[in-house]
Amino acid sequence: MKPPKPDTNRRDFLQKSVFGTAAAGLTIASTSHASAQAPAEALEPEVTNDVDVLVVGGGTAGHVAAIQAARAGAKTLLVERGAQLGGTTTTGGVAFPGLFDAWGKQVIAGIGWEIVKESVEMDGGTIPDFSKVPQRHWHNQVFTNQFLYALLAEEKCTEAGVEIAYYEFPEKVTESDTGWTVDCIGFGTRRRVTCKQIIDCTGGAEVVGMLGFPRLREEERQPGSYLFMMGEEHEPGRNQIHRLYVHGADSTNSRTVTVANMTGRKSILEKVRKEGKRLMHLQPETGFRESYRIEGETMVTVNDYRTGRVFDDAISYAFYPVDLHTKTGVKPKPLDPGTVPTIPLSALIPKGSKNIIVAGRCISSDRLANSGLRVQAPCMGMGQAAGVAATLAAKAGTTPLDVSLKEIHALLKEHGQIVPDIATA
Ligand SMILES: Cc1cc2nc3c(=O)[nH]c(=O)nc-3n(C[C@H](O)[C@H](O)[C@H](O)COP(=O)(O)OP(=O)(O)OC[C@H]3O[C@@H](n4cnc5c(N)ncnc54)[C@H](O)[C@@H]3O)c2cc1C
Repeated sequence: MKPPKPDTNRRDFLQKSVFGTAAAGLTIASTSHASAQAPAEALEPEVTNDVDVLVVGGGTAGHVAAIQAARAGAKTLLVERGAQLGGTTTTGGVAFPGLFDAWGKQVIAGIGWEIVKESVEMDGGTIPDFSKVPQRHWHNQVFTNQFLYALLAEEKCTEAGVEIAYYEFPEKVTESDTGWTVDCIGFGTRRRVTCKQIIDCTGGAEVVGMLGFPRLREEERQPGSYLFMMGEEHEPGRNQIHRLYVHGADSTNSRTVTVANMTGRKSILEKVRKEGKRLMHLQPETGFRESYRIEGETMVTVNDYRTGRVFDDAISYAFYPVDLHTKTGVKPKPLDPGTVPTIPLSALIPKGSKNIIVAGRCISSDRLANSGLRVQAPCMGMGQAAGVAATLAAKAGTTPLDVSLKEIHALLKEHGQIVPDIATA
């Protein structure tokens, strides 16, 4: 086939646009180049992986889990059904991670904090002063550039040796003698993964559900939100983005997510027409606050959360008001001064399971406790702890719940995380 003729008229027009009519404000964007040469075998539809740790879902908790597992020496594969890392933080546009601090000091750090801090610094943004107790909790959320965050998260995965499989999701999970066989599907790709451990970071514990372990889901869930910007420019990492409540939003499957997205987008289009303002920014999908939670070996109750119970197997801290959104909005209920809740390892383990651990908003918790635990810094903390527990379990040929807590704490500290000060044997 002949190559197409260069479109000289178009080129003339563009050059004129730049040099001739610049006064009229017409310019063209510059073009730069990158080469994406996939190896020849990338065209084969069948792929296999044999790894120590498979992380499913590369969102707020998942990319941290994967980076941690790989940095600790586990051969790690991350399967993400979307196009980038960060989940609700990036694709959902909720780029205000919180809360890393409580009562004047930092309580969550580690890999999530490393990426947040680096992206804010690279972006010339501002990091709140954690030594000061803010008047309102959200003052210490960190305005983060969602785009930079996604790029840095991906770079850190690559540097750590995590293999990333975008546009894929598991369709079948079977127990094996050494762990699991997981069949994943993507367009043009069928992937068979054998792994010792699975970390389910899908937000709604989808792998746990596929395996038939019990999950909890409320009849009426908190609304989701579709994030956009109308009438004024969205400055990533600087300003708050507009939110449209999508009541009834349900992240259970592709059909329910399609309904939520189309409902959100339709309402935004109506608003643009009605208010006659320019649409300046639109996220690609709805952010979901609530869906399935696992029924774990331990269930964190709102009483545990509000009293700052220090669990015997605490692996990280959490901090945020109880924050339940309803049809009429949200009235956050702050924690009492000095209270810092903890997250137990056993709340990340589906009851009765082996060789699978979760991290993120699907943690085993009652609804009110979950409304606080679900925020991003605790999700990142859980991700890192799950990465450590799964890696140590894979190395020792055991299950995450049987790994020594002392070893988990030691490895977390080695990788920059702050762990609750409890006696570990
Ligand atoms: C509108 C809104 C406002 C919020 N406000 C704040 C706030 O101001 N500050 C704050 O800290 N927190 C806030 N939160 C809470 C917080 O953002 C989320 O609870 C948290 O990001 C959830 O993290 P996660 O890792 O559990 O899930 P997610 O970040 O949603 O990640 C799940 C990932 O798994 C992928 N996935 C799902 N299923 C599969 C599958 N089967 N196979 C492969 N991949 C899959 C998804 O594509 C996604 O990337 C808000 C949440 C919402 C929705």
